[in-house]
Amino acid sequence: MSVERAAGVEGGALEVWIDQDLCTGDGICAQYAPEVFELDIDGLAYVKGSEEELLQARGATTPVPLPLLTDVVDSARECPGECIHVRRVSDKVEVFGPDAE
Ligand code: SF4
Repeated sequence: MSVERAAGVEGGALEVWIDQDLCTGDGICAQYAPEVFELDIDGLAYVKGSEEELLQARGATTPVPLPLLTDVVDSARECPGECIHVRRVSDKVEVFGPDAE
């Protein structure tokens, strides 16, 4: 699915989460979208909440701001651990990431 299509009428609001069990800690996501992803001292990447705090609960999600959608999608595509999951908020269907169709 294209970024434009996911962000358009069909897509609606998106959210992203990281499966830390597969994260290699290379930091690519934090380079692409530092507003959304950050490495913690444990060497793993986490999504950030509205106060820029790291969300460390398993499967924690954060909204994907539209201006950052391309950066977040590129992160998911380049992620060596294949562990960045971008899904629709409305029905939890993954639109970018290893489980996207
Ligand atoms: S790009 Fe993927 S594997 Fe690399 S730090 Fe981010 S979540 Fe972990």
